[in-house]
Amino acid sequence: MNITELARKLKVETDELRGKLPELGFDIGQKAIKVDDQLATKIIRAWRNFEDREKQKQEYLKISQKEEKDEEDSKEKKQVEIPSVLTVKDFSEILKLPVTEVISELMKNGIMASMNQRIDFDTAAIVAEDLGFDSEEVNLEKEVELDKAKKVAEKIAGQEETEYRAPVVVVMGHVDHGKTKLLDAIRKTDIVSGEAGGITQHIGAYQVSKKGKKLTFIDTPGHEAFTAMRSRGAKVADIAILVVAATEGVKPQTIEGLKIAKEAGVPIIVAVNKIDLPEANEDKVKQELANHNLLPEEWGGKVPFVPISAKFEKNIDKLLDQLALTTEIMEDKLQANPQGDFYGSIIESHVDKGAGPIATVLVRNGTLQKGDCLVVDGIFYGKVKVLRDYKGREIEKAGPSQPAEIMGLKIAPKVGDILEVVANPKEAKRTKSYKIKKEESFIKKECEENEEDNQEQNLNLILRTDVLGSQEAIVESLKKIETKDVKIKFVDKSLGSVGESDVLNAEATGSIIYGFNVHLSSNVEDLAKEKDVEIKLYSIIYELIDDAKERIRKLRKAEIVRKDMGKVQVLASFKKGDDLQVIGGKVLKGSVEPGAKVAVLRGDEFITSGQVETLQVGKQEVKDCVKDQECGIKFKGQPLIEKDDVLDVYQEKKVYQ
Ligand code: GDP
Repeated sequence: MNITELARKLKVETDELRGKLPELGFDIGQKAIKVDDQLATKIIRAWRNFEDREKQKQEYLKISQKEEKDEEDSKEKKQVEIPSVLTVKDFSEILKLPVTEVISELMKNGIMASMNQRIDFDTAAIVAEDLGFDSEEVNLEKEVELDKAKKVAEKIAGQEETEYRAPVVVVMGHVDHGKTKLLDAIRKTDIVSGEAGGITQHIGAYQVSKKGKKLTFIDTPGHEAFTAMRSRGAKVADIAILVVAATEGVKPQTIEGLKIAKEAGVPIIVAVNKIDLPEANEDKVKQELANHNLLPEEWGGKVPFVPISAKFEKNIDKLLDQLALTTEIMEDKLQANPQGDFYGSIIESHVDKGAGPIATVLVRNGTLQKGDCLVVDGIFYGKVKVLRDYKGREIEKAGPSQPAEIMGLKIAPKVGDILEVVANPKEAKRTKSYKIKKEESFIKKECEENEEDNQEQNLNLILRTDVLGSQEAIVESLKKIETKDVKIKFVDKSLGSVGESDVLNAEATGSIIYGFNVHLSSNVEDLAKEKDVEIKLYSIIYELIDDAKERIRKLRKAEIVRKDMGKVQVLASFKKGDDLQVIGGKVLKGSVEPGAKVAVLRGDEFITSGQVETLQVGKQEVKDCVKDQECGIKFKGQPLIEKDDVLDVYQEKKVYQ
């Protein structure tokens, strides 16, 4: 066989084949013109193998490059919180980097600053990013809250003549894993213990007795509520029960709950729930949690795991025994002085149409009594007119770790607010002017922010909820799903049912109305229909969040991702129009399809881009053409294509970040 014929068969240039043959182990000499059939067959086989290897190598390189890139992308940037203004030294401490490194990075950005010089957040954020950090401006309001909460915690810890108080227990875990059922089951044990009347009242917390010792349970399952409370600085829980369904194992909110409890430094007890179901797998839960450094006691760790069935009330006693045991170990931490200064954390708050503001306080120190004058941040909120326990019974006073409902307040406190008692309202700051001023400045800031935000897409919302606890939880969760390009704007958020004014407000601002556990009257519904305003009612937070997520997704700018399809060598140009050209070509690689995008390349030079309008093989219009096929292409775009150009054919896909 002729070498040129062989080369053609292998689809390579003759010289390339000649050059490669020694590498493949064939020594036929540079001048040879023919090879015998046997040798030709061997060469063909070796060449195919070589091609396969090359292909695999390229694929491997492509995959490994992609993996490297993925790895780089997935290397999460470290998060840091940076105040609005700070010294270079403080900045280096936040980044945990030597101050010299930070100074030199600032210099690279054209900023000459010494150690004690101050820089603003924007400057710091740019430098932090260069150093591999993701920065967030410290929320001053949050800082102040945390600072206040810390001071209160210190004051409580500094109390003398303290006594033992009941532990405060919070229940966390993934949605549908049984938090509510467990809280119900625990609540029922109280009836068994002989106290008259069950707990029908829902005030946000309740107490049960175990072997004569009381346990206080926060009755708002889900960690949104807990997170919201914590972010406001009220670290009220002493112990966390992490509910994990044995049927499903560890889920994202399990991990989130675990993180919150760990950050708050509270001991965790794992309740492995739904063990009544055949598919329950307790060991899987243990293994998965062990992977998150929550090692069960029986595996040599410190965390008690109690298998339960909340539905069939199985092992609830065991769980309570375990709580009692954990309580015993931490007794020295569970201390307060019932006679000392009063501090209480708000865990639930709403405005009743008839009765006005009603709030549930969890007493942290001292004793709250009927008639006490209450302040938040030194501002007078009102007098305690009526005090009720978690069973709805009127009481005269409430001591440490006791939840109590307060009526008679003039202003509704927020979840997480810390209440204090003053002897006389005159001791309190002059409330009105102070509060109004604060609100005015807040409104002004919001307006300014709105103007600045014009560049971004906003999802405008009006939120109406039953209680403040759920409102805060929803707001907190919604903030988490905002993206860089789509922000959530709360046009209004308030308590109570959706009204006609909300519909008009939504119409004027292009908002969607979300109602959570609230009522919608038919006339409001009719008005909404008339004004074409969307009202969505929910009783499950996650469903509301999912709806908002979907709306955000629709508003987002998509990133266009390119997917290579193939390459076509231009063999001839037939016809040109204003915005059209018909060419003949051969598919060198991959495939071509009508509708695909085209980049026209001359050597390495980019000439123009366009689209494959139609594709023909011979006279026949076809749906695609593959490698080695010759085809006619009607190209839509500038008619600049010449013979020997290469068409790089690709598709574009919208991908949301
Ligand atoms: P939450 O979202 O974590 O508060 O979960 P729920 O308490 O509302 O429970 C979710 C679903 O799981 C409900 O249908 C419950 O009846 C069911 N459930 C809860 N605990 C158990 C259990 O121990 N066994 C079984 N079989 N079902 C349970």
